[in-house]
Amino acid sequence: MRVLISGASIAGPTAAYWLCRAGHSVTVIERASGPRTTGGHAVDLFTPALNILDRMGVLSEVLARDTGTTSGIFFAPGLKRPLKADIERFIHAISEHHVEIMRDDLSAILTAATGNDVEYLFGDTITALSPDTGEVSFDHAPPRTFDAIIGADGLHSNVRRLVFGAEEQFSSFLGANLAVFSLPKVLGLDRRILAYLDVGRLAATYSARHLSDARALFLFRTESPAAYDRHDVPAQKNLLRAAFTGLDSQVDRWLEELQNTEAFYFDAITQLSLDTWSRGRVTLVGDAGYCPGAVVGGSTSLAIVGAYVLAGELTQASNDYIRAFAAAEREMLAYVQGSRSLARHTARILVPANQAQVWALVHGTRLISRLPAPLARAAARFSNQGLRLADSMKLKDYS
Ligand SMILES: Cc1cc2nc3c(=O)[nH]c(=O)nc-3n(C[C@H](O)[C@H](O)[C@H](O)COP(=O)(O)OP(=O)(O)OC[C@H]3O[C@@H](n4cnc5c(N)ncnc54)[C@H](O)[C@@H]3O)c2cc1C
Repeated sequence: MRVLISGASIAGPTAAYWLCRAGHSVTVIERASGPRTTGGHAVDLFTPALNILDRMGVLSEVLARDTGTTSGIFFAPGLKRPLKADIERFIHAISEHHVEIMRDDLSAILTAATGNDVEYLFGDTITALSPDTGEVSFDHAPPRTFDAIIGADGLHSNVRRLVFGAEEQFSSFLGANLAVFSLPKVLGLDRRILAYLDVGRLAATYSARHLSDARALFLFRTESPAAYDRHDVPAQKNLLRAAFTGLDSQVDRWLEELQNTEAFYFDAITQLSLDTWSRGRVTLVGDAGYCPGAVVGGSTSLAIVGAYVLAGELTQASNDYIRAFAAAEREMLAYVQGSRSLARHTARILVPANQAQVWALVHGTRLISRLPAPLARAAARFSNQGLRLADSMKLKDYS
């Protein structure tokens, strides 16, 4: 089959790898001018995603790029002393295996794994496509026809817009907004995340052993998505300053860096819910199809598993894309639905709405980080929030 994939971040190269390995002819189109270089934000890989990366032969590279964050220091109003939390223990309670890695490191590893057999078209985008015939027009490249087209172009997917319509009809706001930017690596955060927690807002900073800078992460609650122009970065920075100035002198220092930073990300945390991810020859994978909410839903692992399943089903169905797309949706549905409900829950507790919730979060973190590991795992297994969700996804062997 001739397959076109839009997006070369996580889901795109993963699907490309497995499709190419099964003998398909794969083209990846990416809006950015070249492969991602080290940067972006930290993302989580849980057991099933790590198993797939192992099958791709890239696990050792991934482990070598682990951020190494193992603990956290939390400041909250009313806390006499900062709370030290064992993040590693907490994460291992929810997944047997876990690696935190910078998104762009992971993307570079996945893209390299696809080798020379995948055709990459950087700096281009799809302008029109037909789900019936597979005809595609591009901004720069001449029109071409494909047997299947995969939208792996993220939360604000272009393919989804062209085929399914405006994003607003599928997206719901999870009550919080998100910003990330780069900071000078001055705090010596060796394997630690530093976080300031307050009613309706959370500010944190972390780095990774091999990075020359650090990241500042901000989450803040609003009734409805913060009103801003997606292209007006100065206005977004002002919104962030208004939400966080005065939380702590340390946070004020991070905010001062807003005027220097080039890498700045700002968005509402939204969840996508489409009845189906496929139409004709087109399907969606990863954030493009079923983003449960950035930061709160384990969406990177979901994107890797979704890409693996989609490529596997396409190959297993002997190129019958209609049957394959339906099978992939069935295979992923429980994991996607579970991620949605986990994300809604996590968004509520991670950005507390009142003082009581701040305390619940602080004490819950303290409790879990002090529980012996087997007990913490048991608590997570029996929680009704689906905390062990990722590990419950059993991977089919498509070989
Ligand atoms: C600030 C932030 C923090 C996050 N933290 C976490 C975390 O802690 N843990 C976690 O698991 N996940 C986290 N995530 C989510 C994670 O980054 C995504 O779930 C993951 O990257 C999804 O991969 P994807 O390949 O589906 O989409 P993306 O990584 O969004 O990639 C989409 C790709 O498509 C490209 N593209 C977009 N439009 C076009 C177009 N028109 N034409 C061609 N290409 C296009 C983009 O340039 C990009 O390369 C976070 C996300 C953000 C924004």
